Amino acid sequence: MSEPSPYALHGKGRRCVITRRALFSSSHRYYLPELSKDENYERFGPCSFTAGHGHNYQLIISMIGRLDDDGMVLNLSEVKHAIKSEVTSQLDFRLINEVWPEFDLNTKEGCLPTTEALVRVIWNRLSKHLPLVGIRLFEQPVLWADYLGNDMEAYLTIQTHFAAAHRLARPELSQQENESIYGKCARPHGHGHNYFVDVTVKGSVDDRTGMICDLSSLQSLVDELVVEPFDHTFLNKDISFFSKCVPTAENIALHIFDRLLTPIADLGVSLHKIRLQESPNNAAEVYAEMYKQQNIPGDSQNMSVV
Ligand SMILES: [Zn+2]
Ligand SMILES: [Zn+2]
Repeated sequence: MSEPSPYALHGKGRRCVITRRALFSSSHRYYLPELSKDENYERFGPCSFTAGHGHNYQLIISMIGRLDDDGMVLNLSEVKHAIKSEVTSQLDFRLINEVWPEFDLNTKEGCLPTTEALVRVIWNRLSKHLPLVGIRLFEQPVLWADYLGNDMEAYLTIQTHFAAAHRLARPELSQQENESIYGKCARPHGHGHNYFVDVTVKGSVDDRTGMICDLSSLQSLVDELVVEPFDHTFLNKDISFFSKCVPTAENIALHIFDRLLTPIADLGVSLHKIRLQESPNNAAEVYAEMYKQQNIPGDSQNMSVV
């Protein structure tokens, strides 16, 4: 009989989520053979050009499991091997449309290799090998998709930014009282931030276009309803809503959520989350689930992890 280990097996049997990052560079092309060249250009713009174009993709894979005797959910070398053999070695430096039959547009089942379609196919290929809980795929630092294993449902996030000034103060209070609540943020002439806004939408991946919504329409909406009106403004004075509401990061995030909710629904997807990064040190997030349950304090039972 072997000697008992002198080390305490602290986490053995307890569950933990681990993540692994992988990178690959691939090209793709958006071109539906049932449409003419002009129709393809009209729908997909330069993404329809014959030569295709490429991205440096970043893949973040989250897995769940119980810790073993060695204090690990999974052996990382096995995780690396699975990701490499099933995904990155097949896609790296290749045209995605050609290497995976899921994206062969000449077949009835093929769909365009969009970020949201690709993350779903990667899940389907990896789920046989790894205990997945979520996969995030960055096509660019400002565009990524999440898939949680729910049939055709996927999340798409775009990031944008604007620069604006604000002052945190409630008009009915004295300067001294405001400074006691808001500190330096209550100084009379305001101060500015470079705000980053992440807009996450949730929808069903179309089985032909591979899209949950038209990306350029989504980007135009966010530009038109958030970036254009807010950029290079003094929020308290230039945005009428904030003449009556203190423009904290929380209130700005909620206001952006309210502005985008209906127009995004009109695109055929639902607004899932707004994240507003005000500085490297603080951010505010608003989730659709919270919005629906706003009268239930502290209830986060149904919130998604994305
Ligand atoms: Zn592309
Ligand atoms: Zn501030």
